[in-house]
Formats: sequence, C-alpha cells, structure tokens
Amino acid sequence: MTQTQTLNTYADLLAAIDAGESGRAIHDPATGELVGHAPEHTVDDLHRAVDTAVEKQRDWAKLTDAERCEYLNRAADAVEAAGEALAELVSREQGKPLNGPGARFEAGACATWLRVTCSHDLSEETVVDDGETRAVVNYRPIGVVGAIGPWNWPMMITVWQIAPALRMGNAVVVKPSEYTPLSVLGLVEVLNTVLPEGVLQVVVGGGDVGAALSTNEQVGKIMFTGSTATGRKIAESSAASVKRLTLELGGNDAGIVLEDADPREIAENLFWGAFINTGQTCAALKRLYVHDSIYDAVCEELTKLAEQMPMGVGMDEQNVLGPLQNQMQFDIVDRLVKEAKASGAKVLLGGDPDYDAPGYFFPTTLIADIDADNPLVVEEQFGPALPIVRYTDVEEAIAQANKLNVGLGASVWSADLERAREVAARIEAGTVWINSHGGVDPRVPFGGIKQSGYGVEFGVAGLKGLGVPQVING
Ligand code: NDP
Repeated sequence: MTQTQTLNTYADLLAAIDAGESGRAIHDPATGELVGHAPEHTVDDLHRAVDTAVEKQRDWAKLTDAERCEYLNRAADAVEAAGEALAELVSREQGKPLNGPGARFEAGACATWLRVTCSHDLSEETVVDDGETRAVVNYRPIGVVGAIGPWNWPMMITVWQIAPALRMGNAVVVKPSEYTPLSVLGLVEVLNTVLPEGVLQVVVGGGDVGAALSTNEQVGKIMFTGSTATGRKIAESSAASVKRLTLELGGNDAGIVLEDADPREIAENLFWGAFINTGQTCAALKRLYVHDSIYDAVCEELTKLAEQMPMGVGMDEQNVLGPLQNQMQFDIVDRLVKEAKASGAKVLLGGDPDYDAPGYFFPTTLIADIDADNPLVVEEQFGPALPIVRYTDVEEAIAQANKLNVGLGASVWSADLERAREVAARIEAGTVWINSHGGVDPRVPFGGIKQSGYGVEFGVAGLKGLGVPQVING
C-alpha cells in the first residue's frame, strides 16, 4: 500500500487484503457465504515482523508527541473516509448488523478512539520540588507492543490497544483472532495509508503465533483481550522475559435492580446492556438480579421490548441483532440454555434455536425463575441469553454479585442515585454503571479486577500503561 492510496470502497479494501485461494477461507457467520481469504502467517513471519518493529520504532519514538498525534489524527480521518467499507467488512465477517450498536458504530468508534487518545494531557509530573530534592516523572516508550485481540469487536478492540501504544512512541505487532482476521487486516491497511511503514504490522495466524508474540524477548508489552484461560497462558509464557501485560479478560457482569426502579424506564438500557452485539461483549450484563416487588414487571417490560428487536443477516439494514460469531460460541450458549430449561427455569422468550437454518443464530432468550447457582447464571454465556434471578434482600443480591472470581463490570438500577452509588461501591467490579450497563468512554479508565484481568485501558491511566515511567531526580 502506498501512502497516497485510499481504500474507501468495500471492493478496494477487500482486494487490498485478500490472500487469494491459498489463504484461509473466512465465511459470514449469518449466511455461510465466503467473505474472503486470510493469509496464514507462521511463527517465523511473526518474529520477522517483531524485528522490523524494533527497527522502525526508533524513528517513531524520535518524533515529538505532537507529530505522532498528527499522524494518528490523520489515521482517524482515513478510518472515517473508509468507514462504510470497514463497517461492511466487519458486518460480513463478525456477523453484527450494520445498524443498532453494530458495525457502523464499531467503525465510528475506531476513529473516535484514535482522536480522543491524542487529546489526553500527559505532561511531565513534578512529584517533589522543595529546594533540596527535585523529582520529575516522564513516560518513555516501551519499545515493541504486541496486541492480541478477540473476535467480538475485532476492529474496535484493536484500536483500543494500538492507539495509546502508538501515541506513546511504541511500534505495534497485532495478532487478530483466527475468526475475524479480515476486518483487522482491513483496519490496519487503512491506518497504514497514513502511518510510517513498519510501525504498525499485523500477523495472522493461530494460537501458536499469539504464543510466539508473548515469548518473543524483543516484545516489551502484551495488550490482550480475550478469555481468562488464554490470559493465564500469556501471563505464564511472558514471565521469562518479564513483559508488561494489560489483561482484559472475560467477565460475568451482574446487574442489581433495586425495588424503586421504574421497570418501563429501565427496560431499554437493560436490554442493550445485555444484548449489545448479541451478548458477545466482555462487559455485557450477563446475570440480572431483580427485587421481588418489581420482578414480574421488569420481566414483562424486558420481554415486550426484546420481542421487537429484529435479528438477522448483518447486511440487512433493518436488523439490530445478528448471529453468534462461531460454532464454539453457539454451542456454549446452547448448552447453558438447555441446562437452564432442564432445571425448570421459565423461558420468557426464545430458547429454541432452529438448528437446520443457516447461520449461528440463537434467538433472543430471557429466562426467569432461575436458581442463583444455575450454570447460565454462574458461567459466562457470551451470547443472547439473559438469566433473571429474583431476590428479596439487597444484601443477598450484593453477595450473589460478588461471589464469582471475575469482576469486569456491574450495574445498579434505581430511581435514587445516592442509594445506587452506595450499593455500587460495594460491588467487586472494575466499573459499576448506574441505570445503564457497559458503556465505555475513551476518557474513562476501564479494566477488570479478580480474574477479569489487570491494568486499565483508556484515559491518561491507559496511556501511562503503554509507557515506562522514568524519574529524573536532580
Ligand atoms: P481466546 O482467549 O482463545 O482468544 C483470544 C485471542 O488470543 C485470539 O487472538 C487467539 O488466537 C489468541 N490466543 C489463543 N491462544 C493463545 C496463546 N496461547 N497465546 C497468545 N494468544 C493466544 O478467546 P476465544 O476466541 O477462544 O473465546 C473463548 C471465550 O473467551 C469466549 O467464550 C468468551 O467467553 C471469552 N471471550 C472474551 C472476550 C472479551 O472481550 N473479554 C472476547 C472474546 C472471547 P486464535 O483465535 O488464533 O486462537
């Protein structure tokens, strides 16, 4: 790709990244249709990309912060210009609809995150200056950063990882999920119409390529979003080279609806909190605890709303929910819903996929009167099936919310903001939203506690995580 080319149509974008028949075929999870072919890079390719990154990082780090931000803002312009093409690519590959909080939203967020990441003020910090001691902290680049991402929001999560890394003067090697490599390749191709050659590369391969990135001694940091199991492996394999890590792992976010909430008013935010991206979102609402006094009303409002939300092929403009991205995820959701049904829980909506229809579609499913220890409640479903648990005492709901070994997000729903904040402060999660769930903001730090990971993304705190502090003392 030359620096002057643009990739503003879907056909041009696909032509620029398609590896041809020798590559791995990628299919639309809604229809089974071929989207394109991804290259199959090897572990040797990965190590070569890291060597290039080491070399190219030196000049990138020599630029001023303002010069790097100028590049990133121009990269945001390029993403905006290619927005419709990128949205189509991620819709076809990942399955999410163009509309709703879907593919267009994802492409738009990529540009927003690039710009806002450059707007944070990261000036040097004078921590002591008392006439005797003068200590000033600055953040230097780490060097080469590895960015390993998942298949649910492939482009957006990649930008979350690479935008702060690049601003801080690092070079980046991206390893996308095997399920959604094309959209990440497309995004990187667009960014590289602007960025200097070699500071941002993508290597496509399986878990072995990801593992090689986490053992390569020249990589100073891994930004990882994905499952807790893989996060654990990365922590182990990166230990020998003492890499820095930001781990954004799975969660099983609880929502607690207090008795004074208005069921009709909260229904829409509850719905999107749980069903954004058809439930395939790390910080989606995955188990809902509702006070007995308004339990039936909340179930009714949620069901009425959910019934109206069209699910189907991503490229059809009317849809706002899509398929699951892959068979593995379909099987997880299917198993958990079957177990819930077998336990005697009440299916308010959905629960019955058409196994013969094309695509990995699982209908929007609401399950009530479910036991608090049912697998659908205590395991992460990562799909469109929400268990709704009844409670009578808020202490019991807080205890249920806190009983798992994960803590990414959570939410409290109430008409009384002060009371909601008090309950929120007692929930063990990296973020607790009030009267909404899952909204992220490039200015606000975001990260998990417990086995949902460590390190934060976004905001000034996120930027600092992509640098190494240096104290000048004297
Ligand atoms: P994984 O954690 O397996 O994959 C995430 C990324 O890590 C992929 O790019 C993957 O590559 C890569 N990877 C796999 N093995 C290694 C390794 N040993 N070292 C370095 N990188 C590696 O997630 P899955 O896609 O398998 O999804 C499984 C579950 O994870 C889901 O059911 C869901 O619960 C959760 N999940 C959470 C997400 C989140 O946003 N927090 C996002 C997606 C999934 P490759 O795909 O090539 O194997």
